[in-house]
Amino acid sequence: MEQFSLTDIKKKNLSDVYHYIYQNPSCSKQEIATALSVSLPTVSQHLTTLEGLQLIEKCGRLSSSVGRRATAYQVISDAHIAIGIELLPDKANILAVNLYGKIIAKETLSIAFEPTGHYLSKLKDTVQSFLKMNHYKEETILGIGLGVQGLISPDGSEFTYGKILDCTGFSIRTFADAFSVPCRFIHDAECACNSELWENPDIKDATYISLSYHLGGAIIVDGQLLTGHTGKSGTFEHLTLVPDGIDCYCGHKGCAECYCSANSLLTYYDNLDDFFSHKAEGDPVCVSKWDEYLRHLAILINNLHMVLEHTVILGGHVTPYFTEEDLTLIKKYVSERSTFDDDTSYIIQGKCLGDTVGIGAALPFIKEFIDGIYLFRIV
Ligand SMILES: [Zn+2]
Repeated sequence: MEQFSLTDIKKKNLSDVYHYIYQNPSCSKQEIATALSVSLPTVSQHLTTLEGLQLIEKCGRLSSSVGRRATAYQVISDAHIAIGIELLPDKANILAVNLYGKIIAKETLSIAFEPTGHYLSKLKDTVQSFLKMNHYKEETILGIGLGVQGLISPDGSEFTYGKILDCTGFSIRTFADAFSVPCRFIHDAECACNSELWENPDIKDATYISLSYHLGGAIIVDGQLLTGHTGKSGTFEHLTLVPDGIDCYCGHKGCAECYCSANSLLTYYDNLDDFFSHKAEGDPVCVSKWDEYLRHLAILINNLHMVLEHTVILGGHVTPYFTEEDLTLIKKYVSERSTFDDDTSYIIQGKCLGDTVGIGAALPFIKEFIDGIYLFRIV
């Protein structure tokens, strides 16, 4: 049997108290004691410790019809924050994210991506002035995640495959050396998946398909990202959908990227708004292109579900344009291809809109903190 020391138990209790307050803002000491089956003096002791660490604060008194009204507690949501940055070919979106995964500050830097020290140095300067302007001290920052279009080494330090941005081998060092907190590159599809799972905490096993300008994916097993030996698990974009089909940027032909990415819809239009407004007006080219898109997507979903019988989450830039009919059509096309049954309820539309990559780049640091690793380190 594993042995725990008294200190370990104390740390765990402290962590449990913090988690309870995190999950139940404006709770009282008595509620915590009852929920955790811990004595009131013990809870008091932990509350004092957490207040001393400036992780929680009193937030008024609870209403009560009898006796003294109890003090309510809440976590200080910006006691620690993480920085998430989405690096795009023409700009960088910089976000400060609080302990509830919400954006509390944002800035956009217009800058063309280039895999050079000069680029990272300019990004670093902007992040440093962003922190200064918002009065974020470095000791409150849990980490800085840079969401990027490419595959990344397990330690987050460099691109192992960066054909979209032509940056294979590009290192984060110039940026990371300027900060005392952990900094890492994170694959953008993984970031988007992080955001979805944050919003859907009950989903433990999922296949996430990112229908963004470039296609991407991620596989979650038991709440953890499945990376594979070299981080290539979940790269659905290069599954062959059409043998000898359209040329893919990877050098092969007929990859899912060429049929299910947002870019694949933009043969005649510059952006998705234009494409979908023309489709809504009944433009026959757009209508036919969209149906073709949904049919290819159905093949991809069915194939992936055959490999892993998981919830399939559809996210990315295309999904906000989905109508009820589109989802019904996807499910119909998947059902027609399914070998085993007609139940397609496993296909769900992602909930996250907007800055999913930037938020998802910050979330691993927030999650690490909330999971209690931080508390164990400091007490
Ligand atoms: Zn490809």
